Amino acid sequence: MAKKLLVVCMAAIMAVAALVAGCGGDQKAASDNKVLKVGTNADFAPFEFQDENGKEYQGFDMDLIRAIGEEMGYKVEISNIQFDGLIPAIQAGNIDVAITGMTINEERKQNVLFSDPYYKSGLSIIVAKDNNDIKTFQDLKGKKVAVQIGTTSAAEVNKIGGVEVKEFNSSADTFMELRAKGVDAVVNDRPVNDYYILKSGETNVKALPELLTSEDYGIAFAKNN
Ligand code: GLN
Repeated sequence: MAKKLLVVCMAAIMAVAALVAGCGGDQKAASDNKVLKVGTNADFAPFEFQDENGKEYQGFDMDLIRAIGEEMGYKVEISNIQFDGLIPAIQAGNIDVAITGMTINEERKQNVLFSDPYYKSGLSIIVAKDNNDIKTFQDLKGKKVAVQIGTTSAAEVNKIGGVEVKEFNSSADTFMELRAKGVDAVVNDRPVNDYYILKSGETNVKALPELLTSEDYGIAFAKNN
């Protein structure tokens, strides 16, 4: 009787083991052929940037999308695309999703779907340390301000009115313009401004405490996806 029970138990264990192995096998097969094509503008630290060799994509968003890919059983393939080219790339079917600190807003919702919000952000100003004229967003009137093209910063600074807005391809370019004294101020998402001050070693600039907006980041994908 005891021997019979042992045989039954062994058979049950082997069946479970086979099932587990089988599942693992299926998952591997899925990750071999299912690819999640991800677009990002990898010039937006700490959310997306490339390591010193310009190879590995790093940052909060990159970790998040890799974890999502793993959960889905998809291989994640990341392409670096200019910010204002990301929604067109989704619409053309060149990428499945864009993750790039992208703010969910009504205008973009006309063209893409968004995931649930995953990060709360807002806009802040950086000026030279010895600049005492600019303390609030209203003080930007009559001043030269660098923003990244196609972003909420560009839209909001243009709304203030009377600001000489200079638009650049990346947030890194806006910081360079401030360093070169081509502008009086830079407006970007606050975490990106703060990270720049923390990491660049730049001691001649300061971030102002005022936040202009409250924005939610979402992952964008096609309306028919
Ligand atoms: N959050 C801003 C926007 O969506 C900036 C995003 C970015 O530059 N990557 O417009």
